[in-house]
Amino acid sequence: MKVGLKLSIAETEIKKFEKGNCAEEKVFYQAMEEVIYSIAPLLESDNIYAKYSILERLVVPDRIIKFKVNWLDDSNNIRVNTGYRVQFNNALGPYKGGLRFHPTVNEGVLKFLGFEQILKNALTGLPIGGAKGGSDFNPKGKSDFEIMKFCSAFMGELYKYIGPRIDVPAGDIGVGSREIGYLFGEYKKLTSKYEGVLTGKPFMFGGSLMRPEATGYGAVYFTQTMLEIENQEPLEGKICTVSGAGNVALHAIEKLLQIGAIPVTCTDSRGTIYDSRGVDLDLLKEIKLEKRLSLAEYVKVHSEAKYIPVSEYPEDVHPVWDIECYAAFPCATQNELCEVDAQNLIQNGCVSVTEGANMPSTPEATALFLSHNICFAPAKAANAGGVAVSEFEMSQNASMSKWSFERVDEKLKITMQQICKRVALTAKDYGVAGNYVDGANIAGFKKVADAMIAEGI
Ligand code: NAP
Repeated sequence: MKVGLKLSIAETEIKKFEKGNCAEEKVFYQAMEEVIYSIAPLLESDNIYAKYSILERLVVPDRIIKFKVNWLDDSNNIRVNTGYRVQFNNALGPYKGGLRFHPTVNEGVLKFLGFEQILKNALTGLPIGGAKGGSDFNPKGKSDFEIMKFCSAFMGELYKYIGPRIDVPAGDIGVGSREIGYLFGEYKKLTSKYEGVLTGKPFMFGGSLMRPEATGYGAVYFTQTMLEIENQEPLEGKICTVSGAGNVALHAIEKLLQIGAIPVTCTDSRGTIYDSRGVDLDLLKEIKLEKRLSLAEYVKVHSEAKYIPVSEYPEDVHPVWDIECYAAFPCATQNELCEVDAQNLIQNGCVSVTEGANMPSTPEATALFLSHNICFAPAKAANAGGVAVSEFEMSQNASMSKWSFERVDEKLKITMQQICKRVALTAKDYGVAGNYVDGANIAGFKKVADAMIAEGI
């Protein structure tokens, strides 16, 4: 399809949703516009999607649940936060998507994440719908008891709306297995039911082996397949840059080290580490996962590495993307990689960019990668490993079984390879070979849309 025609169809569609495009919803509209541009050729070639108003129905969540969370801090002060669950679409299966605890959480952020989750979950080929939730609660600096009390209070409301066949939340930023454990404990107390209502649980009470590793490992498996399809050299022996120092980043680093690549960076909200010999993963896990400290601690052990605090970042440039690398893995948060960062990566010879985080590249950065034929793996395809293993956890819980690490890893690898091949093939079928953004959006949209049509209104 001609670019001009594609743009005019997309712009007509986008105009329909302009009402209510407030600042809070900016990221949601960013995600929605990208999808609309991608699927314009599909809407043009088959008018069944217009006939059933699929787009109009898909961009509005089935429901948004918003609630007050009162909890007691360690000084017995009553604290108040807002909790949310955005149940977006369940055409393919029960609502499924993580919970985020971060002060930047609001309805718009969760609508963006929930919308992306619908298409991501569709791409896995597994029977799961899309949702997202969380709270503006900031876990930083809170004691273990305060985290527990907040999680109990949050579940005190959320439990009314979830269930193994209704909606199965998981973790995201600020919600790891500790928080999922507390949430699960409260759900059990409130309902007297021991069931797979949350995923990402600790292994000892129903969690799947490999769930913590799944998103990071999956992003690397996806990249390996993409590089092979695009006839590029493999990652082995190559310098890689990674942002983030949480669940996704640390496990992407772990898999890169396992396959013989050289990840040289990581970042947190306070600064960037650059260790040209390859980062020390054991130390990183100790600092970030066990002690929950700042990355500044790293250079106290490895003085030859460099630590750049946020206060020393050049304006509008993230230093992590100005380091020479073969492959980049943004794994921290949305819109963390801007146009200038993309320019720096391209100038420094980067061949491949894989989004471990959700929508870490701005639209301008994404456009630059695509126009320079960088192998670009968009989040909804590349980070689907986490939700895929979450679905494996649901299967294990439903059958009261436990799979081995090797079995889960093998299934994850196959799932990521299949997603990558499906996305690449869809892009080729629609005349945009090599464009994994369009491929992922078209393949994901088509799967959900066809189910919505078959289920009627
Ligand atoms: P996490 O364990 O909480 O780690 C997040 C990391 O990113 C931390 O190092 C944090 O720094 C940093 N960070 C967060 N917000 C930031 C900001 N505004 N500026 C700079 N750094 C920031 O979270 P995660 O589970 O790894 O999730 C990371 C990304 O992957 C998110 O976009 C999430 O939606 C996406 N994702 C996660 C999964 C999963 O399975 N967990 C699956 C799919 C997608 P501090 O350490 O200083 O807080």
